[in-house]
Amino acid sequence: MSDTIAAISTAIGESGIGIVRMSGKNALNIARGKFVSIKGDNFKIENRKLSYGHIVDNDHIIDEVLISFMKEPYTYTRENMVEIYCHGGIIPVKKILELLLNSGARLAEAGEFTKRAFLNGRLDLSQAEAVIDMIKSKTDKSFEVSLNQLEGSLSNKINEIRDLLLSMIAHIEVSIDYPEEDIEEITYEDLEKDSNIVKEKIKALLSTADRGKILRDGLNTVILGKPNVGKSSLLNAILRENRAIVTDIPGTTRDIIEEYVNIDGIPLKVVDTAGIRDTDNLVEKIGVDKAKSIVEDADLIIAIFDVSTELSDEDIEIIDLIKDKKTIILLNKTDLQSLYDKDYFKKYIKNMHIISTSITNGIGLDILEDSIRDMFYSGEFNIKSDAIVTNLRHKNQLEKALKNIESVLNDLKAQVPLDCLEVDLKNCWENLGEISGDSVGEDILDRIFSEFCIGK
Ligand code: GDP
Ligand code: ZN
Repeated sequence: MSDTIAAISTAIGESGIGIVRMSGKNALNIARGKFVSIKGDNFKIENRKLSYGHIVDNDHIIDEVLISFMKEPYTYTRENMVEIYCHGGIIPVKKILELLLNSGARLAEAGEFTKRAFLNGRLDLSQAEAVIDMIKSKTDKSFEVSLNQLEGSLSNKINEIRDLLLSMIAHIEVSIDYPEEDIEEITYEDLEKDSNIVKEKIKALLSTADRGKILRDGLNTVILGKPNVGKSSLLNAILRENRAIVTDIPGTTRDIIEEYVNIDGIPLKVVDTAGIRDTDNLVEKIGVDKAKSIVEDADLIIAIFDVSTELSDEDIEIIDLIKDKKTIILLNKTDLQSLYDKDYFKKYIKNMHIISTSITNGIGLDILEDSIRDMFYSGEFNIKSDAIVTNLRHKNQLEKALKNIESVLNDLKAQVPLDCLEVDLKNCWENLGEISGDSVGEDILDRIFSEFCIGK
């Protein structure tokens, strides 16, 4: 970590300015070698001041720039950092980067700036991961959640639990090491009480994970219905108002159209099975298993029926598929003569949101959006103040920690010797430590930071 790294930190393409960044011991020296201030000297680079001048290669001017130097340790990486603000576009940033690399800097790996921030103690691992999530956020809400995580919302909760575990472990060790001394011995009751607190706190964090996943990846929403009921019309209507600003999400899968929309901060990944040719029977075309698995993977199903035609066998097949899923049913084309209504439909399916719509006339769509919102923001759920687990790695670690604390609780009931309890307690402590990065292997670090872009 003693070398100096450099990278282009802004997106590459046409833009007003571009930023090339360096971090490491030699950052200032390298910059001084290639910068000439407007007054003609190259020592005019001062801590936390912007200097104006030229980046030069021998006597040849590469670009007109502003340059800043931030002295360690109060920087993002906790190392000396230099940022060069040059003209945007591909050429200036590349030329400047090349020059720095020829002058002793090394090209940074993906995420290496943030990795250094982590290794130097500026961020814990969950905070570093929050930085990736912020960059990849698709909606305001998911950005907000990541920002809270960067500010330490998750780390604080994890540390609270780890502190409690550590004090339990310490008490047990004292009791084991100095059994005859006059120290107040820890009782099984105390341990059980604390273990239950730990368990409840872990469970509370885990219970946020499903919502967290939705905020991160989008609510997996499937629009189902036989041909001509209005699936494409619905998707288009939702997209018109709510298309998420997304550029880098893998597009359509083979037969199925996927779109991202944003309804009051809830990102929806909408799958329109209309991509399966409208003339074909949905279930026949893709096969029962595929249809089942699409429905199985869905967080939310919007099933559409056309009230201007009788319920057909295919409608009944669809009703069968969705019976046990979170579904909103749209009875569409209510502007035409209706052959059945909500009450009739309730014979087939109970306990579901049923909304009468006329999609082409824009009727009922607001109720649809309200229903989606209600389904996912019911209760006192408050994104701002709560730590939310958005990261699958964190969720897995929490699940391991939960198993370990549950086995401690079982052992306590069986009154096993104290030193046997200690193993599971320590494992639990370490499971949580992998979230904050206190006990985490090199391979996991590499995997995490490789998800970053270069220059971050
Ligand atoms: P899909 O096959 O399920 O994707 O259905 P489409 O969205 O392609 O719609 C099939 C036809 O039904 C089109 O001509 C739409 O204009 C029409 N349609 C969709 N919704 C309504 C509605 O609420 N009322 C009426 N009258 N026609 C509709
Ligand atoms: Zn269609």
